Amino acid sequence: KKLKKYYPFKKGVFSSEVGHVRAVDGLDFTVQQGETLGIVGESGCGKSTVGQMILQLLEPTEGEIWFQGKNVSTLNKSEMKEARRNLQMIFQDPYSSLNPRMRVEDIVGEPLKIFERYSKKERREKVAELLRLVGLDTHHLNRHPHEFSGGQRQRIGIARALALNPKIIVCDEAVSALDVSIQSQILNLLHKLQNELGLTYIFIAHGLPAVKHISDRVAVMYLGRIVELADRDTLFANPKHPYTKALLSAVPIPDPFQRKERIVLQGDLPNPAAPPSGCHFHTRCPYAQPLCEKKTPELSAYGKGHVAACHFPLEVD
Ligand code: SF4
Ligand code: MG
Repeated sequence: KKLKKYYPFKKGVFSSEVGHVRAVDGLDFTVQQGETLGIVGESGCGKSTVGQMILQLLEPTEGEIWFQGKNVSTLNKSEMKEARRNLQMIFQDPYSSLNPRMRVEDIVGEPLKIFERYSKKERREKVAELLRLVGLDTHHLNRHPHEFSGGQRQRIGIARALALNPKIIVCDEAVSALDVSIQSQILNLLHKLQNELGLTYIFIAHGLPAVKHISDRVAVMYLGRIVELADRDTLFANPKHPYTKALLSAVPIPDPFQRKERIVLQGDLPNPAAPPSGCHFHTRCPYAQPLCEKKTPELSAYGKGHVAACHFPLEVD
């Protein structure tokens, strides 16, 4: 609810004036149990910061995160421990997130060591079970991360994230570093695990193709704000925000005869420390009008669960 993360910075070497990078600037959204919410936007839009706040790795500057009917900032110590167990993460780069000196048994078993009172034998059995769940052989238990391929390492990361039977998994660019064929294997695995274990995913990525097959709903972020949120099919077929359409234009069109109008993004993402006035997107938007520079568009509803923040929303084409 109204989630914000601001980072203070000094405006100049000789100035004591303090500015704020509004990494996350007032987000409202919900995630239903068992669904996958995709969060998409260019690097620097604040999407990872949102994930880290949900996981309690970063404290919000303002706003609230509610989990299972409770505001997490009001949880006592044992409730917080329970929440942490339920909120896990899968990282982008499985290689740098796995300790190269540790054996797979210890990597996957680490959360169990911290949270559970298992004997060594019980822990080993649980780790073997987790490896089977992610499609790895149990004879890998004594190996080190460098002995695995990128896809296998991501499976190890997933096994570790599953060790404590979490409810929500934040996947931050979880397949971005992998080859396309391996990406689809990992996405299929995540999908299978979701069905089997009733998991909820928050799936963060910089492009729409990565979230297309796995998401039930998608939120598009631009410079710290959600500019559009809709169920997956609506967002892909009928985007209202020019930025969403620009991200869609980057998706290869499967049918070469279906030539839709494309929006090519001009220039780079503006400096988040000094975002453009009014609609943050006006400096790159081909539909911008004088009003856009002056007035910030609020999120408006366009149908069930579909919201977008634009003064001149797109029509269906
Ligand atoms: Fe473009 Fe204006 Fe809509 Fe912003 S409000 S996305 S600048 S048309
Ligand atoms: Mg990131």
